[in-house]
Amino acid sequence: MSFTPSLLPKLIETVTETIIKNAGEITALDQAIGDGDHVTNLQRGLTALMAQRSEISQLDWPAAWQKIGMTVMTSVGGASGSLYGTLFVAMSKSAAGKDLNVQSVAEAFAQAVEAVKHRGKSDVGEKTMLDVLVPVAKHLQDAAAVSLPLSALLEQTKQVAITGMESTRDMLATKGRASFLGERTRGHIDAGAMSSQLVICALVDVLLANLTAPAQ
Ligand code: ADP
Ligand code: MG
Repeated sequence: MSFTPSLLPKLIETVTETIIKNAGEITALDQAIGDGDHVTNLQRGLTALMAQRSEISQLDWPAAWQKIGMTVMTSVGGASGSLYGTLFVAMSKSAAGKDLNVQSVAEAFAQAVEAVKHRGKSDVGEKTMLDVLVPVAKHLQDAAAVSLPLSALLEQTKQVAITGMESTRDMLATKGRASFLGERTRGHIDAGAMSSQLVICALVDVLLANLTAPAQ
């Protein structure tokens, strides 16, 4: 794969900046239909990842995803900690020992999203992060299958993530804390859908910026 784990410090820094920049908005969403701790949870994980970022960048991708997943699971807390942690650990398991290319990474991501579904006993349409993760996984697999150029695949990924996040606004929450509020959840975007959209768009922006950058 053309992207190497040497990009990880930049990826982690950019995700951290994005979450800080949008902290007020994500917190307001989690306060509206959850308990308001989503950003604090994420920031604990990002602080731990920031401390490990140069160490992680020395690993290969599957080992890096495994370490990221374990760090997220042990530091984030909340429902999102085990779900985001599961995503990275499962991605690592699926990618281990494979030749990494767009197709195998798309496949690994799709399997990781299946693992998140299993872990959360949930699926698309329940007003969670899965409303972003599931369409993004499908888009990556579809784009890989037709060998869409990487720049187009990445650009479209951002749009798919935003559309997925927006789709949660009018949904009724049936999983997680928000489900306790029933009909009152309609009209609010899900906090986890917003954070996963922001993380995906931040990661994609770093990848796009490094797509055309001269080799170092
Ligand atoms: P908690 O709900 O424990 O306070 P967070 O606030 O960190 O944890 O994360 C809440 C987010 O986690 C929700 O906005 C939603 O996107 C996601 N989530 C919660 N439960 C589930 C589930 N069962 N399946 C998928 N995602 C879930
Ligand atoms: Mg919460």
